[in-house]
Amino acid sequence: MAFKPLVFSGVQPTGNLHLGNYLGAIKKFVALQESHECIYCVVDLHAITVWQDPAELPRAIREVTAAFIACGIDPKKQIVFNQSQVAEHAELAWIFNCVARLGWLNRMTQFKEKAGKDRENASVGLYAYPTLMAADILVYRATHVPVGEDQKQHLELSRDIAQKFNNDFDKSIAARGCGDAFFPLPEPLIQGPATRVMSLRDGTRKMSKSEPSDQSRINLTDDVDTIALKIRRAKTDPDPLPHEQKGLESRPEADNLVGIYAALADTSKADVLRQFGDAQFSTFKNALVELTVAKLSPINAEMRRLVADTAHLDAVLADGAARAQVLAADTMKTVKDIVGFVRR
Ligand code: ATP
Ligand code: MG
Repeated sequence: MAFKPLVFSGVQPTGNLHLGNYLGAIKKFVALQESHECIYCVVDLHAITVWQDPAELPRAIREVTAAFIACGIDPKKQIVFNQSQVAEHAELAWIFNCVARLGWLNRMTQFKEKAGKDRENASVGLYAYPTLMAADILVYRATHVPVGEDQKQHLELSRDIAQKFNNDFDKSIAARGCGDAFFPLPEPLIQGPATRVMSLRDGTRKMSKSEPSDQSRINLTDDVDTIALKIRRAKTDPDPLPHEQKGLESRPEADNLVGIYAALADTSKADVLRQFGDAQFSTFKNALVELTVAKLSPINAEMRRLVADTAHLDAVLADGAARAQVLAADTMKTVKDIVGFVRR
């Protein structure tokens, strides 16, 4: 069965949006608007899988919304909203909790990393995170999901859930006139030179909002001096840059900075190395500071302007939520019929 192409993705309001979120996700969201209908969600239900201060959460939700718009997402053409305003996400997640198998969730590396050693004390929500993510996507029957590399495993689980639902309920799906599959198998879109931006302090760790050290990441709200300082202090090795990508193997910090440059300049790592091969890091870092500041400053300024207007952001989210809910409610009606629930 052919599904209408539709893009869905989300970002958690868990703290400081950083360059990894921008290059791995939001920049792709912006580009996809040219070719697709898109739904972009501030996933606040995901955020509370780890503790969020209720006095801080609204600010974080509005900041992600502001970042979406400041980066170039058009909330009139596309749908922008926060997850908790559309209850159907949580409703479908429950059904998916009954489709997904414990064995599948036990393999998820994000849970292992985030729960750490104190697994007994992690929230049930943190464990079930991937079934909610599957529901976020599939409640719209979305077909394409732009994400960073770290979300690849969760996307594969979403596909497994869609497939198992389609198989388990095949007769019921056919009886509702939905052919042989009710849910599409959503495709991850993970491409380009910065699908996994690494920490500036440790080239083996992902740049993350929840990482305690602020020096590990460039925040979208950092000012020019902070960006310059963080890049100049970024960990590197003593050798000059190589001429070819092969020379970046086993040099994770160098590879990371070259990838960031390439993504910001809309080019490839090979191209960057053609330009900077043999350059010392001092020279390359100066160029990287200049490029990063040039790309992030306008976003930063626009974010500041937008976050000051809470009423406008809340109106954007309310409008997006109302439009999203129409689609989600429609899916849920059919899902309930397929599962066999009696409804009004
Ligand atoms: P947290 O640490 O709270 O999980 P996060 O930085 O991982 O925060 P998310 O909101 O979980 O941010 O992810 C939003 C999007 O950004 C996802 O598509 C994710 O794959 C992408 N992303 C996150 N970190 C990176 C990174 N370092 N490089 C590339 N993409 C990233
Ligand atoms: Mg994350």
